[in-house]
Amino acid sequence: MDIFFLGTGAGMPAKLRNVTSIALKLLEERGAIWLFDAGEATQHQILHTSIKPRRLEKIFITHLHGDHIYGLPGLLSSRSFQGGDSEVTVYGPKGIKEFLQVSLSVSQTYLKYPLTIIEIDEGVIFEDKQFTVEARLLDHGIPSYGYRVVEKDRPGTLLADKLMAAGVKPGPIFRKIKNGETVTLEDGRVIEPQDFLGPAQKGRVVTILGDTRFCENAILLAQDADLLIHEATFSRDEEKLAFDYFHSTTHQAAEVAKQAKCKQLCLTHISSRYDRNDWRELVKQAKEVFVHTDIAEDFMEVTLPYK
Ligand SMILES: [Zn+2]
Ligand SMILES: [Zn+2]
Repeated sequence: MDIFFLGTGAGMPAKLRNVTSIALKLLEERGAIWLFDAGEATQHQILHTSIKPRRLEKIFITHLHGDHIYGLPGLLSSRSFQGGDSEVTVYGPKGIKEFLQVSLSVSQTYLKYPLTIIEIDEGVIFEDKQFTVEARLLDHGIPSYGYRVVEKDRPGTLLADKLMAAGVKPGPIFRKIKNGETVTLEDGRVIEPQDFLGPAQKGRVVTILGDTRFCENAILLAQDADLLIHEATFSRDEEKLAFDYFHSTTHQAAEVAKQAKCKQLCLTHISSRYDRNDWRELVKQAKEVFVHTDIAEDFMEVTLPYK
Protein backbone atom coordinates (compact mmCIF):
# COMPACT_ATOMS: atom_id res chain seq x y z
CA MET A 1 0.00 0.00 0.00
CA ASP A 2 1.57 3.24 -1.17
CA ILE A 3 0.27 6.79 -1.29
CA PHE A 4 1.49 8.82 -4.23
CA PHE A 5 0.95 12.58 -4.31
CA LEU A 6 0.17 13.75 -7.85
CA GLY A 7 -0.81 17.28 -6.84
CA THR A 8 -0.42 19.05 -3.52
CA GLY A 9 -1.28 22.72 -4.12
CA ALA A 10 -4.31 24.82 -3.20
CA GLY A 11 -6.77 26.61 -5.46
CA MET A 12 -4.94 26.77 -8.77
CA PRO A 13 -1.93 25.19 -10.43
CA ALA A 14 1.42 26.68 -9.43
CA LYS A 15 4.93 26.00 -10.70
CA LEU A 16 5.96 24.00 -7.65
CA ARG A 17 2.66 22.31 -6.90
CA ASN A 18 -0.14 21.15 -9.16
CA VAL A 19 -3.71 21.04 -7.87
CA THR A 20 -4.97 18.18 -5.75
CA SER A 21 -4.81 14.51 -6.67
CA ILE A 22 -3.66 11.58 -4.55
CA ALA A 23 -3.22 8.00 -5.74
CA LEU A 24 -3.65 5.13 -3.31
CA LYS A 25 -1.66 2.32 -4.92
CA LEU A 26 -3.12 -1.07 -4.04
CA LEU A 27 -1.12 -3.03 -6.60
CA GLU A 28 -0.08 -5.85 -4.29
CA GLU A 29 -3.44 -5.93 -2.54
CA ARG A 30 -5.78 -5.91 -5.60
CA GLY A 31 -3.81 -4.88 -8.68
CA ALA A 32 -5.60 -1.55 -8.62
CA ILE A 33 -5.17 2.15 -8.07
CA TRP A 34 -7.67 4.33 -6.27
CA LEU A 35 -7.57 8.05 -6.93
CA PHE A 36 -8.66 10.79 -4.55
CA ASP A 37 -9.58 13.95 -6.47
CA ALA A 38 -8.38 14.84 -9.95
CA GLY A 39 -7.49 18.50 -10.27
CA GLU A 40 -6.61 19.97 -13.64
CA ALA A 41 -3.65 18.28 -15.38
CA THR A 42 -3.74 15.21 -13.17
CA GLN A 43 -3.25 13.13 -16.33
CA HIS A 44 -0.17 15.21 -17.21
CA GLN A 45 1.25 14.50 -13.75
CA ILE A 46 0.54 10.78 -14.22
CA LEU A 47 2.66 10.83 -17.40
CA HIS A 48 5.73 11.42 -15.21
CA THR A 49 5.02 8.37 -13.04
CA SER A 50 4.74 4.59 -13.36
CA ILE A 51 0.98 4.79 -12.71
CA LYS A 52 -1.09 3.11 -15.42
CA PRO A 53 -4.53 4.72 -15.92
CA ARG A 54 -5.92 1.34 -16.98
CA ARG A 55 -5.30 0.23 -13.38
CA LEU A 56 -7.71 2.86 -12.07
CA GLU A 57 -10.56 1.10 -10.31
CA LYS A 58 -12.15 3.78 -8.13
CA ILE A 59 -12.04 7.55 -7.98
CA PHE A 60 -13.19 9.33 -4.85
CA ILE A 61 -14.00 13.02 -5.22
CA THR A 62 -13.98 15.01 -1.99
CA HIS A 63 -15.84 18.08 -3.27
CA LEU A 64 -16.76 19.90 -6.45
CA HIS A 65 -14.36 22.86 -6.37
CA GLY A 66 -12.53 23.11 -9.69
CA ASP A 67 -9.09 22.45 -8.23
CA HIS A 68 -10.34 18.96 -7.31
CA ILE A 69 -12.33 17.94 -10.41
CA TYR A 70 -11.27 19.80 -13.56
CA GLY A 71 -8.86 17.01 -14.48
CA LEU A 72 -11.47 14.27 -14.27
CA PRO A 73 -13.12 14.32 -17.75
CA GLY A 74 -9.76 14.39 -19.55
CA LEU A 75 -8.35 11.62 -17.42
CA LEU A 76 -11.39 9.37 -17.95
CA SER A 77 -11.33 10.11 -21.68
CA SER A 78 -7.62 9.34 -22.16
CA ARG A 79 -7.99 6.12 -20.21
CA SER A 80 -10.02 4.75 -23.14
CA PHE A 81 -7.01 5.26 -25.43
CA GLN A 82 -4.57 3.80 -22.92
CA GLY A 83 -6.01 0.31 -22.94
CA GLY A 84 -8.39 0.81 -20.04
CA ASP A 85 -11.32 -1.54 -20.49
CA SER A 86 -12.24 -2.42 -16.91
CA GLU A 87 -15.01 -0.63 -15.04
CA VAL A 88 -14.30 2.59 -13.15
CA THR A 89 -16.49 3.79 -10.30
CA VAL A 90 -16.52 7.46 -9.36
CA TYR A 91 -17.79 8.42 -5.90
CA GLY A 92 -18.53 12.03 -5.01
CA PRO A 93 -21.00 14.60 -3.73
CA LYS A 94 -24.30 15.34 -5.44
CA GLY A 95 -23.53 17.12 -8.71
CA ILE A 96 -20.58 14.95 -9.77
CA LYS A 97 -22.86 12.94 -12.06
CA GLU A 98 -24.13 16.02 -13.90
CA PHE A 99 -20.60 17.45 -14.18
CA LEU A 100 -19.29 14.27 -15.79
CA GLN A 101 -22.30 13.54 -17.97
CA VAL A 102 -22.35 17.07 -19.38
CA SER A 103 -18.55 17.21 -19.90
CA LEU A 104 -18.48 13.85 -21.65
CA SER A 105 -21.62 14.32 -23.75
CA VAL A 106 -20.92 17.90 -24.91
CA SER A 107 -17.41 16.87 -25.96
CA GLN A 108 -18.84 13.72 -27.58
CA THR A 109 -16.54 11.53 -25.56
CA TYR A 110 -17.41 7.85 -25.69
CA LEU A 111 -15.71 5.67 -23.14
CA LYS A 112 -14.80 2.12 -24.11
CA TYR A 113 -15.30 0.92 -20.55
CA PRO A 114 -18.21 1.02 -18.10
CA LEU A 115 -18.31 4.10 -15.90
CA THR A 116 -20.42 4.09 -12.75
CA ILE A 117 -21.01 7.35 -10.91
CA ILE A 118 -22.25 7.18 -7.33
CA GLU A 119 -23.43 10.30 -5.53
CA ILE A 120 -22.73 9.55 -1.91
CA ASP A 121 -24.18 10.31 1.49
CA GLU A 122 -22.37 9.95 4.79
CA GLY A 123 -21.66 6.40 5.97
CA VAL A 124 -20.04 3.31 4.52
CA ILE A 125 -19.94 3.90 0.77
CA PHE A 126 -17.98 0.81 -0.25
CA GLU A 127 -17.23 -2.56 1.28
CA ASP A 128 -15.82 -5.82 0.02
CA LYS A 129 -13.84 -8.62 1.63
CA GLN A 130 -10.67 -6.50 1.63
CA PHE A 131 -11.64 -2.91 2.32
CA THR A 132 -14.25 -0.60 3.81
CA VAL A 133 -14.52 3.06 2.83
CA GLU A 134 -16.44 5.42 5.06
CA ALA A 135 -17.33 9.03 4.21
CA ARG A 136 -18.26 11.95 6.43
CA LEU A 137 -19.00 15.58 5.72
CA LEU A 138 -16.40 18.18 6.67
CA ASP A 139 -16.74 21.96 7.01
CA HIS A 140 -15.92 23.74 3.74
CA GLY A 141 -18.88 25.92 2.73
CA ILE A 142 -19.94 23.42 0.06
CA PRO A 143 -20.33 19.69 0.77
CA SER A 144 -16.80 18.32 1.20
CA TYR A 145 -16.20 14.72 2.21
CA GLY A 146 -13.41 13.00 4.04
CA TYR A 147 -12.72 9.34 3.36
CA ARG A 148 -11.52 6.68 5.78
CA VAL A 149 -10.11 3.63 4.03
CA VAL A 150 -9.92 0.61 6.30
CA GLU A 151 -8.17 -2.56 5.23
CA LYS A 152 -9.67 -5.63 6.84
CA ASP A 153 -7.43 -7.86 8.95
CA ARG A 154 -5.95 -10.76 7.05
CA PRO A 155 -6.02 -14.26 8.56
CA GLY A 156 -2.72 -15.41 10.03
CA THR A 157 -0.47 -18.06 8.53
CA LEU A 158 -1.57 -21.69 8.71
CA LEU A 159 0.10 -23.70 11.47
CA ALA A 160 0.58 -26.79 9.29
CA ASP A 161 2.81 -28.64 11.76
CA LYS A 162 0.22 -28.29 14.50
CA LEU A 163 -2.49 -29.59 12.16
CA MET A 164 -0.45 -32.62 11.19
CA ALA A 165 0.35 -33.28 14.82
CA ALA A 166 -3.40 -33.34 15.41
CA GLY A 167 -3.65 -36.01 12.71
CA VAL A 168 -5.04 -33.83 9.92
CA LYS A 169 -3.56 -34.72 6.54
CA PRO A 170 -2.58 -31.94 4.08
CA GLY A 171 -5.10 -31.33 1.29
CA PRO A 172 -8.05 -29.10 0.45
CA ILE A 173 -8.94 -29.09 4.12
CA PHE A 174 -5.80 -27.02 4.83
CA ARG A 175 -7.01 -24.31 2.45
CA LYS A 176 -10.41 -24.21 4.11
CA ILE A 177 -8.85 -23.73 7.51
CA LYS A 178 -6.49 -21.09 6.08
CA ASN A 179 -9.59 -19.26 4.78
CA GLY A 180 -11.06 -19.26 8.27
CA GLU A 181 -13.65 -21.99 7.74
CA THR A 182 -14.65 -24.39 10.50
CA VAL A 183 -14.11 -27.95 9.31
CA THR A 184 -15.60 -31.24 10.50
CA LEU A 185 -13.28 -34.22 10.02
CA GLU A 186 -14.44 -37.69 8.94
CA ASP A 187 -14.02 -38.94 12.51
CA GLY A 188 -16.44 -36.22 13.68
CA ARG A 189 -13.85 -33.92 15.24
CA VAL A 190 -14.45 -30.19 14.65
CA ILE A 191 -11.45 -28.06 13.72
CA GLU A 192 -11.81 -24.40 14.64
CA PRO A 193 -9.59 -22.26 12.37
CA GLN A 194 -8.46 -19.92 15.15
CA ASP A 195 -6.71 -22.85 16.87
CA PHE A 196 -4.55 -23.49 13.81
CA LEU A 197 -3.78 -20.02 12.51
CA GLY A 198 -1.06 -17.60 13.60
CA PRO A 199 -1.97 -14.08 14.71
CA ALA A 200 -4.07 -12.14 12.18
CA GLN A 201 -2.32 -9.45 10.19
CA LYS A 202 -3.77 -6.08 11.21
CA GLY A 203 -5.21 -4.10 8.31
CA ARG A 204 -4.04 -0.56 7.68
CA VAL A 205 -6.08 2.64 7.89
CA VAL A 206 -5.62 5.70 5.69
CA THR A 207 -7.71 8.84 6.06
CA ILE A 208 -7.82 11.30 3.18
CA LEU A 209 -9.77 14.48 3.79
CA GLY A 210 -11.18 17.08 1.44
CA ASP A 211 -10.74 20.79 2.07
CA THR A 212 -12.02 21.73 5.51
CA ARG A 213 -11.92 23.89 8.57
CA PHE A 214 -10.95 22.19 11.82
CA CYS A 215 -13.94 19.94 12.60
CA GLU A 216 -15.12 17.03 14.70
CA ASN A 217 -15.82 14.71 11.74
CA ALA A 218 -12.19 14.98 10.67
CA ILE A 219 -11.17 13.59 14.06
CA LEU A 220 -13.72 10.78 13.83
CA LEU A 221 -12.52 9.78 10.36
CA ALA A 222 -8.89 9.88 11.43
CA GLN A 223 -9.27 7.85 14.65
CA ASP A 224 -6.13 5.70 15.11
CA ALA A 225 -5.28 5.99 11.40
CA ASP A 226 -1.86 4.86 10.25
CA LEU A 227 -1.75 7.90 8.00
CA LEU A 228 -3.85 11.05 7.95
CA ILE A 229 -3.68 13.28 4.89
CA HIS A 230 -5.00 16.68 5.92
CA GLU A 231 -5.05 19.98 4.12
CA ALA A 232 -2.96 22.82 5.59
CA THR A 233 -3.66 25.67 3.22
CA PHE A 234 -2.34 28.26 5.65
CA SER A 235 0.37 28.69 8.25
CA ARG A 236 -0.23 28.69 12.01
CA ASP A 237 -0.53 32.49 12.06
CA GLU A 238 -3.37 32.75 9.53
CA GLU A 239 -6.17 31.25 11.59
CA LYS A 240 -8.62 34.05 10.70
CA LEU A 241 -7.90 33.72 6.99
CA ALA A 242 -8.26 29.93 7.20
CA PHE A 243 -11.61 30.26 8.96
CA ASP A 244 -12.93 32.86 6.49
CA TYR A 245 -12.01 30.68 3.50
CA PHE A 246 -13.12 27.37 5.10
CA HIS A 247 -9.59 25.98 5.28
CA SER A 248 -7.16 24.79 7.96
CA THR A 249 -3.82 25.91 9.32
CA THR A 250 -0.77 23.73 10.00
CA HIS A 251 -1.61 23.73 13.72
CA GLN A 252 -5.22 22.74 13.15
CA ALA A 253 -4.26 19.80 10.90
CA ALA A 254 -1.79 18.66 13.55
CA GLU A 255 -4.43 19.05 16.27
CA VAL A 256 -6.71 16.65 14.37
CA ALA A 257 -3.89 14.09 14.09
CA LYS A 258 -3.13 14.46 17.80
CA GLN A 259 -6.71 14.16 19.02
CA ALA A 260 -7.36 11.22 16.69
CA LYS A 261 -4.17 9.47 17.89
CA CYS A 262 -2.90 8.97 14.33
CA LYS A 263 0.48 7.40 13.66
CA GLN A 264 1.51 9.81 10.90
CA LEU A 265 0.29 13.08 9.42
CA CYS A 266 0.97 14.39 5.96
CA LEU A 267 0.10 18.01 5.15
CA THR A 268 -1.11 18.86 1.68
CA HIS A 269 -3.15 21.48 -0.26
CA ILE A 270 -0.46 24.07 0.47
CA SER A 271 -1.08 27.65 -0.67
CA SER A 272 1.25 28.94 -3.37
CA ARG A 273 1.97 31.95 -1.13
CA TYR A 274 4.49 29.63 0.53
CA ASP A 275 7.58 28.84 -1.52
CA ARG A 276 10.08 26.06 -1.09
CA ASN A 277 11.92 27.89 1.70
CA ASP A 278 8.74 28.21 3.76
CA TRP A 279 7.78 24.53 3.63
CA ARG A 280 10.23 23.55 6.34
CA GLU A 281 8.72 26.17 8.62
CA LEU A 282 5.20 24.85 7.95
CA VAL A 283 6.24 21.35 9.02
CA LYS A 284 7.98 22.77 12.07
CA GLN A 285 4.78 24.50 13.12
CA ALA A 286 2.76 21.30 12.80
CA LYS A 287 5.39 19.33 14.73
CA GLU A 288 4.88 21.67 17.71
CA VAL A 289 1.50 19.92 18.08
CA PHE A 290 2.06 16.51 16.44
CA VAL A 291 5.60 15.32 15.97
CA HIS A 292 5.13 12.65 13.26
CA THR A 293 4.33 15.19 10.58
CA ASP A 294 5.56 15.49 7.03
CA ILE A 295 4.65 17.86 4.21
CA ALA A 296 3.62 16.43 0.84
CA GLU A 297 5.26 17.47 -2.39
CA ASP A 298 4.24 16.59 -5.93
CA PHE A 299 5.56 13.12 -6.85
CA MET A 300 6.26 12.17 -3.24
CA GLU A 301 5.40 8.61 -2.24
CA VAL A 302 4.64 7.27 1.24
CA THR A 303 4.70 3.52 1.84
CA LEU A 304 2.59 1.97 4.54
CA PRO A 305 4.04 -1.42 5.44
CA TYR A 306 2.10 -4.07 7.33
CA LYS A 307 2.18 -3.51 11.07
ZN1 LIG B 1 -9.03 22.95 -2.90
ZN1 LIG C 1 -12.24 23.54 -1.88
